[in-house]
Amino acid sequence: GTNASDTDKPTLNVVTETSFMPFSYLDKGEIVGFDIDLLDAVMKEAGYEYKLDNVSWDSMLLSVEEGNADLAIAGITVNEDRKQSYDFSSPYFESTHKIVFREGTDITSGEDIKDIKVGVQGGTTGEAAVEKILGKNHENISKYESNTLTLMSLQSGDVEAAVTDNVVADAYVANNPESGLEMIADPETFESEFYGMLLPKDSEIETDIDAALQAIIDNGTYSEIYEKWFEV
Ligand code: GLN
Repeated sequence: GTNASDTDKPTLNVVTETSFMPFSYLDKGEIVGFDIDLLDAVMKEAGYEYKLDNVSWDSMLLSVEEGNADLAIAGITVNEDRKQSYDFSSPYFESTHKIVFREGTDITSGEDIKDIKVGVQGGTTGEAAVEKILGKNHENISKYESNTLTLMSLQSGDVEAAVTDNVVADAYVANNPESGLEMIADPETFESEFYGMLLPKDSEIETDIDAALQAIIDNGTYSEIYEKWFEV
């Protein structure tokens, strides 16, 4: 837009973490994914310029908490725990967890990971889901810095199973057909959750972000992005 309030808008500092294909990942050095397209559409709609930085999961959360970043997007689940320290946009994507394991491992439900070594990304809802089954900080739980490291440790045999977000598990298994990995969902064990854009507490842009998100849902842009990433 060209009105005065638009030109007054600050350039936003946005952070993401790129080990979360197909939501946020690197393709030939470029940050791409469903979340990245969604972010761009929301920012255009809301009339904000933005700068996007790729950081680690932990520093992404910290920089938003400390107000050094204005927004983070990387398949971040909205939950009560995080709401103590952050604000969230309206939810934009439904998710749950899946267990990924090497072919031949006998896993048919969430209960089957109770007595085996399980890998998760530290500080995620996947970690909380696994701790609910094995116990908090159980010695059989290995916590990794990123989703990519978690799944690599499964392939290398450091753990017998990994728990991650369902769509991310689907993409990893589909993109690594030679890996011999399998996966299961278990709706009895893993609850449904929703992704939101993470904002600092009392963020001043929350109203604009939510209005823009609703606008791109209403005008079909969200569906176009969804179809680009999730329908062939
Ligand atoms: N959705 C999960 C969470 O918010 C994992 C996100 C991620 O690893 N990028 O904890």
